[in-house]
Amino acid sequence: MNTSPLRIPLAANSRVEELYPKLTAAQIARIASHGHSRQVQRGEVLVEAGERTERFFVVTSGQIEIVHPACATEQLIAVFGPGMFTGEVNLLSGRRGLVQIRVSEEGEVIEVDREHLLALVQTDSELSDLLMRAFILRRVELIAHGFGDVVLVGSSHCAGTLRVKEFLTRNGHPYSYLDLDRDADVQDLLDHFQITAADVPVLICRGEVVLRNPTNQQIADCLGFNEEIDQTHIRDLVIIGAGPAGLAAAVYGASEGLDVLVLESSAPGGQAGSSSKIENYLGFPTGISGQKLAARAYTQAQKFGAQVLIAKDAKRLACERKPYAVQLDNGLRIPTRAIIIATGAEYRRLPLDNLSQFEGAGVYYGATFIEAQLCRDEEVIVVGGGNSAGQAAVFLAQTAKRVHMLVRSDGLAETMSRYLIRRIEENPAIVLRTRAEIVALEGDGHLARVRWQGHHTGDTETYDIRHVFFMAGAIPNTHWLDGCVALDAKGFIKTGLDLSPEDLAAAHWPLARSPHLLETSLPGVFAVGDVRGGSIKRVASAVGEGSIAVAFVHQVLHE
Ligand SMILES: Cc1cc2nc3c(=O)[nH]c(=O)nc-3n(C[C@H](O)[C@H](O)[C@H](O)COP(=O)(O)OP(=O)(O)OC[C@H]3O[C@@H](n4cnc5c(N)ncnc54)[C@H](O)[C@@H]3O)c2cc1C
Repeated sequence: MNTSPLRIPLAANSRVEELYPKLTAAQIARIASHGHSRQVQRGEVLVEAGERTERFFVVTSGQIEIVHPACATEQLIAVFGPGMFTGEVNLLSGRRGLVQIRVSEEGEVIEVDREHLLALVQTDSELSDLLMRAFILRRVELIAHGFGDVVLVGSSHCAGTLRVKEFLTRNGHPYSYLDLDRDADVQDLLDHFQITAADVPVLICRGEVVLRNPTNQQIADCLGFNEEIDQTHIRDLVIIGAGPAGLAAAVYGASEGLDVLVLESSAPGGQAGSSSKIENYLGFPTGISGQKLAARAYTQAQKFGAQVLIAKDAKRLACERKPYAVQLDNGLRIPTRAIIIATGAEYRRLPLDNLSQFEGAGVYYGATFIEAQLCRDEEVIVVGGGNSAGQAAVFLAQTAKRVHMLVRSDGLAETMSRYLIRRIEENPAIVLRTRAEIVALEGDGHLARVRWQGHHTGDTETYDIRHVFFMAGAIPNTHWLDGCVALDAKGFIKTGLDLSPEDLAAAHWPLARSPHLLETSLPGVFAVGDVRGGSIKRVASAVGEGSIAVAFVHQVLHE
């Protein structure tokens, strides 16, 4: 019997041993103690595509196959013989599966339910390494081949298309993309689902539900991102925001036994997720993309049992009495004993009349692979003099024809790391324009022209440039807190020693002790990362603060 996987579309993958490892007898015995053996018959479907991923299988005899139910013909992804196992990252979250698992040769399997599998990966470090690596690589392969359960029909001239692409990509969800302007056979699909070009972006979810220009929340609901998560019981810790700070807090909190729920208004990763390459985060000497770092952190948090609600905005903090509750946009209140606020910051929107008309259609706030593809071989503008703007300029200069960097000050020295300044100076494709500012955007549908003013001369110039990246001036995401915690003059959250006796008196601080490090003016509520007043706006410091705060959460839970 042939027991090696028939990796039909994945044959070129050089990491096949890690994608499809074969377990030793000792490893199988350890897994068996967490589940039960059962006989399986040829043709039996063990898991249907679209079903919640609640079971994990190890083949002990016979053979099972993994099939993607594509529209026309199904696609065989892999065949597993004795010693091989099923599963990808969906097993950690319990979300709906993307593939069918069925028996192709009768035999025996060990079946383990998700709860026991999670216990296994948390306690058996050898199996955890092997299983987690395979799960992550399998998801990467599904994404690379677009083996998902959604088809996105869009256009590169449409702002909503970019938003939906980013939402799916940053949530690590595989999808197929059809472009109205480029794919000849897209008309058949439009006719079949009775959709018109005016409806784009359109998401066809699991071949059944057609969503016209859906919100991120509608997409999350349709794909069942949050189905598994109980939103009513009282939690030890609710973390708001799944950027580096929130994800770090989730990993430490869940790994130390707390019942942790994370709320994220968009997708895991935060600002870091929109970075093309982070080069100064410890342990990654060749750099790592923000998307990759976020995906790893997200998987790690789930491995320890943290639950993450996607596309759910915290709208209000009910802080009048304990337990506190975090209110969502649908009015639901999630009660919790402690809270970590990690809602970060976002770029200031410049006061330009028609800015919102071009957001996603020529105006961007992050520079990743997706945006870089949109402006290949064209001229682009990056506005801002900080590290994120510098990083974007260097990244975009690899594919764009020219990058104009616009800064209001006299130079970059005061705001940017030396290594980035040197790269900008040495890159002939980047033109630095100091004391310059955009004063108008023009275009019909998509940005077509930009007008900027040089403060040296006062002259205004117009350029036919279709892409502008705004990366200047961060404002904190604290508007929703509505007076519950003390803020500084710029709206960032005050914590620990930064809270004056007047702040504490105004907040009616009720305890004999002073606030802990990172604790706000509300006992048991902490603020970490970029949203905190005086924070260092870096990935490493956000991660550090997220992990430190958890130590104090343990203390307040015992008060
Ligand atoms: C393009 C770019 C490149 C960068 N490059 C680097 C670099 O190379 N090195 C470095 O050290 N730093 C870099 N930074 C800075 C770094 O990314 C930030 O300091 C870091 O991401 C801050 O993490 P955070 O978790 O505090 O906040 P954020 O990353 O801002 O995350 C906050 C999260 O909270 C969510 N949120 C907000 N409000 C709500 C709400 N009401 N309810 C639910 N969720 C909410 C947001 O959607 C977001 O996901 C870069 C930043 C950018 C933008």
